[in-house]
Amino acid sequence: MTVGPGLDGVVGEASVAEARSTSKPKARTSKAKKRSSKKRRRRRGRAKSSGHKVGKSKLRTAPLERPSGELWVFSENLQEEVKVQLYAEDGEFDDAALASLDHEFRCKRTKEERAVDPRLYEMLSRIQDEFGGKRIHLVSGFRFQRNEGSRHYHASAMDIRIPGVSIRKLRAFAETLDGGGMGIGLYPRSNFVHVDFRAPGEPSYRWIDYSGPGGKSRGKGRSRRAKRRKSPNT
Ligand SMILES: [Zn+2]
Repeated sequence: MTVGPGLDGVVGEASVAEARSTSKPKARTSKAKKRSSKKRRRRRGRAKSSGHKVGKSKLRTAPLERPSGELWVFSENLQEEVKVQLYAEDGEFDDAALASLDHEFRCKRTKEERAVDPRLYEMLSRIQDEFGGKRIHLVSGFRFQRNEGSRHYHASAMDIRIPGVSIRKLRAFAETLDGGGMGIGLYPRSNFVHVDFRAPGEPSYRWIDYSGPGGKSRGKGRSRRAKRRKSPNT
């Protein structure tokens, strides 16, 4: 399998653990302090991404309420917006609404479309309900680039932001919705939150990725990235 740039949630737990282990209780001279903070900075600089599995005790246990079904989504790449009601009158998904959302979520590069996991749309509606019905910006939906590890490739992930809402608030709310099997990643430099449904049977996962737009600045080389693909991925 080849691993290209632009993947979400490639993890580097080791570097974070390393960074943590640098604090020592004993007093230090200012010179030593200086040196160690420099070291810490360097190490932190290297840790472009870190993540962890989520234990069951931290997941939602209460059943999810049904969202309003209202969806107003603007695709930044396509410069298109869609405003639909997700549910038909009989309470089932409205096929036309799903179709227009799938179209909105299409791959920006190839224009390929997929039937996106509708649970993602329900999550999107819950998020929209929570933040006052504000229009949600879609940064990336389905991505037609062969990468079995990316939930985007499986039409089961979205990168989103809401103008006027901090991504940390957005992430915090998204996390309350996870009853198991969701991946949620924070991208502070690119300013979006990634939300996905994992492959069946995979545990929930959380991460922060400090790589910038384009996602090419994560780690130095292919080999390190390739190694990390063993971790739960996006
Ligand atoms: Zn993503």
